[in-house]
Amino acid sequence: MTTFETTSRMALRDRAAGLSQRYDGCRAPEVLEAVITTDFAGGIGLVSSFGTEAAVLLHMVSRIDPYVPVIFLDTVRHFPQTLAYRDALITRLGLCNIQSILPRPAAINADDPDGDLHGRNPDLCCHVRKTVPMLAALRPLSAWITGRKRGQAATRADMALFETQDRWIKVNPLIDWSADDVAAYMDTHDLPQHPLKGQGYLSVGCAPCTRAVKPGEDPRAGRWAGAEKTECGIHFENGKMVRAAE
Ligand code: SF4
Repeated sequence: MTTFETTSRMALRDRAAGLSQRYDGCRAPEVLEAVITTDFAGGIGLVSSFGTEAAVLLHMVSRIDPYVPVIFLDTVRHFPQTLAYRDALITRLGLCNIQSILPRPAAINADDPDGDLHGRNPDLCCHVRKTVPMLAALRPLSAWITGRKRGQAATRADMALFETQDRWIKVNPLIDWSADDVAAYMDTHDLPQHPLKGQGYLSVGCAPCTRAVKPGEDPRAGRWAGAEKTECGIHFENGKMVRAAE
């Protein structure tokens, strides 16, 4: 890494730390309003999986500016119910700038010609189908909004309201939200549930890598069940997880 890159990264980290301090204790809609209309006006997007809790941020963003880009990583491995839910929410919330990003056909042909990469090397599969397309979609932006929460996993317990990843700042407005907070918000605003939630899918990703959870299990226990993998990799710098796996 050059001195210039090191200095830029330090400046970005300082900016994220300053923003975390400035908006500490603010409610999620206030944080979103500020970053969308002021701090990153015209340069921020929401990356959404259209999963079981996604409607909260989608609703908040739609009320501030329905033209904020919403990036959906269409891995071509999603449940049809997720795609139907995505389309229903777009209509219901009046979202005007949905970007459903597909993996590059050349990458699929090279790395997953038989469609079984998720079973052989799930890190590489997520890299090809999620991380690389997401990095391309983020190129015009300087910040992105995520729905990550501290309580979702041990690996997320220490995350900050504003983080850095590569050259982007990540905003985590729901950082301290619990499952009850999400349920209450969806109830208050009469937001529809993901169609699979009622069948025990508390966290929904791609169909081959998601199963319903049993009563008492961690909500994310159904993701890559039986494998060591717990994160898809879109939140790792430079896709470092897949390089470690190769
Ligand atoms: S979640 Fe599974 S199918 Fe989807 S990109 Fe990752 S490994 Fe592939």
